[in-house]
Amino acid sequence: MLWRTHLVMGLGAGYMVAGFDPVLLAVAGVGSLLPDLDHPNSWIGNKIPVLPTITRGILGHRGALHSLAATLALGLLLGLFWGKNLGIAVAAGYLAHLVGDMFTRSGVPLLWPLPIMVKLPLVRTGSILERFVVFPVMILGLVYWAVWPMVSGYVWRVIAWIG
Ligand SMILES: [Zn+2]
Repeated sequence: MLWRTHLVMGLGAGYMVAGFDPVLLAVAGVGSLLPDLDHPNSWIGNKIPVLPTITRGILGHRGALHSLAATLALGLLLGLFWGKNLGIAVAAGYLAHLVGDMFTRSGVPLLWPLPIMVKLPLVRTGSILERFVVFPVMILGLVYWAVWPMVSGYVWRVIAWIG
């Protein structure tokens, strides 16, 4: 999956667990990009020097970082040091990334260290389907589900005022 698809899914997951809390949404958004720290050529891997190369060398791309164990470890760590809500938000975003990658051909080792790649390969990363169908539909879904309830009252009022 492309980083922006992961990000939209992560924001959706963040909204699901935290509602409209800008800080927790940002944390979930960051969480949705972190699993690809195991690849130097990923979007986030390109932004951070050295670490992704080391991570890939030790764990492999779509290895331990793409697992429930990593999700739990990160969520618990952040939860312990920065509070439960932050831990839940980052874990939600992180998990959304894993769900996204499950829909690609490679899948994810969800139950790592068990060597089982969990997948339902419906979307090829960066394909026309992802770019022009999956991503826009997710944006529309997020707007309809998360943004529309907040603004609909004003929109209807303006429409009523114009009419
Ligand atoms: Zn990934």
